[in-house]
Amino acid sequence: MEDCIFCKIAAKEIPGKIVYEDDVCLAFLDLSQTTDGHTLVIPKEHYSSILTADPEVVAHVYKVAQKVANQIVKNMGAAGCNILTNAGEVAGQTVHHFHVHIIPRYDENDTVTFKFTDRSKDVNLDDILDKIKG
Ligand code: AMP
Ligand code: ZN
Repeated sequence: MEDCIFCKIAAKEIPGKIVYEDDVCLAFLDLSQTTDGHTLVIPKEHYSSILTADPEVVAHVYKVAQKVANQIVKNMGAAGCNILTNAGEVAGQTVHHFHVHIIPRYDENDTVTFKFTDRSKDVNLDDILDKIKG
């Protein structure tokens, strides 16, 4: 897609530090390096997010993410990692080409924060379940 930075990386029009590549996807170092080894896995074909991507492509991207994450955790000496994707600006997506972040974690006191607030006392799970089911 024109003017998509990740399409340009996939097409080698702009350089990326490539960790893994096959016919369908590419893994390359995230410029921000939230932690050392922070890597993105993208499909070469443009999809705006996981929500609109071909399910077969999603499956392949996650399969590759698992493989690359194991390589990173082992060779970087990480204790674990977060594997996640942001869908939509409200969820923090800034580049609108589906990508999966692999963020190695070395120490629980690092600077990465994902806070999941416990709202269990304020919500009704059955109401929410009914709503999801439609
Ligand atoms: P998100 O906020 O989930 O859309 O993540 C987009 C990520 O892309 C950010 O972590 C950026 O650091 C990263 N990024 C943006 N441009 C580039 C680039 N040219 N090469 C590598 N990573 C990039
Ligand atoms: Zn794109």
